[in-house]
Amino acid sequence: MSYHIWLSSLALSSFYLAFLNCIIVIYKAHNKAPKDSRDWTSKESPRLQFQTLPLIFLLSRFSTLPVSQRRGEPGLIVALGGRLFGVCWSAVMHLVRENLFIGNIGDAASVLEDGSGEVTHVLSVLSSASISFFSEWRSNLVIPVKEIKKVYAGGDDEGDENYDGRKSCLSPDKIVYSLEYAGKDLKFVRMAVPIRDTESENLLDYLEPCLDFIKKSRQEGCILVHCFAGVSRSAAIITAYLMQSEQLSQEDALESLKQSCEFVSPNDGFLEQLKMFEDMGFKVDRDSRIYKKFRVKVLGDAFNRGEKIDISKFAADPGLATDVSSEVTPSRTGESQHSKVYRCKKCRRIVALLENVVDHIPGEGESSFSWHKRKGGNPFQKQDEACSSIFIEPLRWMMAVEEGALEGKLSCIHCDARLGYFNWSGIQCSCGSWITPGFQLQKGRIDVCKV
Ligand SMILES: [Zn+2]
Ligand SMILES: [Zn+2]
Repeated sequence: MSYHIWLSSLALSSFYLAFLNCIIVIYKAHNKAPKDSRDWTSKESPRLQFQTLPLIFLLSRFSTLPVSQRRGEPGLIVALGGRLFGVCWSAVMHLVRENLFIGNIGDAASVLEDGSGEVTHVLSVLSSASISFFSEWRSNLVIPVKEIKKVYAGGDDEGDENYDGRKSCLSPDKIVYSLEYAGKDLKFVRMAVPIRDTESENLLDYLEPCLDFIKKSRQEGCILVHCFAGVSRSAAIITAYLMQSEQLSQEDALESLKQSCEFVSPNDGFLEQLKMFEDMGFKVDRDSRIYKKFRVKVLGDAFNRGEKIDISKFAADPGLATDVSSEVTPSRTGESQHSKVYRCKKCRRIVALLENVVDHIPGEGESSFSWHKRKGGNPFQKQDEACSSIFIEPLRWMMAVEEGALEGKLSCIHCDARLGYFNWSGIQCSCGSWITPGFQLQKGRIDVCKV
């Protein structure tokens, strides 16, 4: 009798714990966590989930016992619970396309630790590129590695000839990816890319090396793309891969991925960047307006996080003759024939080019303070409400900006006449739109000239 009571209470408490975990998993999978919530890879909650995995496993096993061997109602509860968690935590990677799997950290650990019949390449998308992330996650797990190379955004001798991070938003000392032999008998090739699962995280600047690696790995063998939960980061990268390789829209690619793995859900910031990827023609075109707008946003986020702004990420000064020729000629959009330059009204020095303009939808309103421009966009543009200013990307003549102030005047570098204003936290245009961060030139203080 006492055994029966003991078993019932054990089963009930186990079920309670496991139920809590399922709630967390579902909650996160639907991405309803508050915007400032912890990274997926933060230590507390995911650990809790993984520590209770054996428990869930036991529950599932128990649920398969014949009814006569379970004892009363607890058995029924456990059976239901076990079935439920079997669905939530089927820690089996999913096949997306031939030679392409998506999975979570548990899948990657078992592939690297025990070897795998199919997988030959692993793409790890975790908050750290170091293999030590696995040991931090599960302390008895040690995966041997042998470095092939590390590629930094600033580039160096052993950089990647196909990837130039210098035009990206990433500061030069940032690691873009590391490549190594890893796992049992060092027989896997692992690429590790440091990306956090937050809405403001820069996904675009890591995409190209990831997509190249997936393509190459599928030709040579079979790849597992994984992040921590297999829900947001890995899904975003595979979505981009499907978009590029099959020329699918962001929606269609994600929908197609959901056919293989129904619970994938890239965060809203990633979805927005995948849309930009689509708009840029399934590539990261760093000369495009879309990318420039993105870069200004990323710089603004970095500034507002208290990071030092890297001046090398500012666009060249169009007032310097050599820069003008290099900036104007490569414009492949045909814009250059009808291109404009903006000059200081007082001294006629060139202060900006059309390419430097970060455009906004007139009258968009305060919603553009957030990252989610599309959702808040006002479909009824008020054309008559002309903007009294243009907004541009930060340029290398902006001394006050380089000095690191939050806000200040923008003055002509030649005659010191006041041209406008900048504010990293945003400026409201006369049309009502908020541009964040804002680098504003007042139309009354500049002349527009056709080239
Ligand atoms: Zn405006
Ligand atoms: Zn001037």
